[in-house]
Amino acid sequence: MRLIMLGAPGAGKGTQAKKIAAIYNIPHISTGDIFRANIKDKTDLGLKAKEYMDKGLLVPDELVVDIVADRLKQEDCKDGFILDGFPRTIPQAESLDKALISMDTKINYAINIDVPDENIVRRMSGRRACLKCGATYHINYNPPQVKDICDSCTGELILRDDDKEETVLKRLDIYHKQTSPLINYYEEKNTLVTVDGTKNIDDITKSIVEILGA
Ligand code: ADP
Ligand code: AMP
Repeated sequence: MRLIMLGAPGAGKGTQAKKIAAIYNIPHISTGDIFRANIKDKTDLGLKAKEYMDKGLLVPDELVVDIVADRLKQEDCKDGFILDGFPRTIPQAESLDKALISMDTKINYAINIDVPDENIVRRMSGRRACLKCGATYHINYNPPQVKDICDSCTGELILRDDDKEETVLKRLDIYHKQTSPLINYYEEKNTLVTVDGTKNIDDITKSIVEILGA
């Protein structure tokens, strides 16, 4: 199963991608997590990406497309993968198409999680993220068992710098301008499916599994 998660920042892409990856036993590839790991390790890529991420801007296409193309060539992706946060622009989608053609494969579904803007800011201010393993929680909708501690790896949970309200509004604006055209892009390729992202987390997973089949 080769899948892409689409949706605004905070729509629930990471939350669903983790669950779907576990159900279908495929790797979850989050470009945001890759950048955050590089920032933590203070790599050149991390230093460059941080400048853009802190401002709520997209990291330039040339810094992200090769990373994903290389990741997809790894052995664990041979039977499928779920991409979360990539592609985010039309040029990224085109470069992904090229990489997949060179691997003689294609995407099965682009899953668009649809959430109105007014729900997003509320979600983001309550999001808590684990920098160690990438798990995300919400203080009300999906709380960890112990406050500020990750259930999966016991890492510390933080409010991401880019989840502050003014940065979230900027990210939403950029989503509408640069990323939402991908909805049409995948619709034209007959791979788009849209799920209602305002339902609860488990119901959304059920809807996705119904679409994907066993
Ligand atoms: P994305 O990866 O699209 O940026 P996340 O999966 O990190 O979004 O979700 C954003 C925030 O909203 C997190 O705090 C998450 O726990 C919460 N969340 C995710 N899905 C739902 C949902 N269906 N209902 C309520 N809150 C949700
Ligand atoms: P995410 O964790 O998916 O919300 O991503 C966090 C931030 O990382 C985004 O706001 C961007 O600055 C950057 N980022 C992640 N994926 C991409 C991408 N495919 N293209 C450009 N920037 C990205």
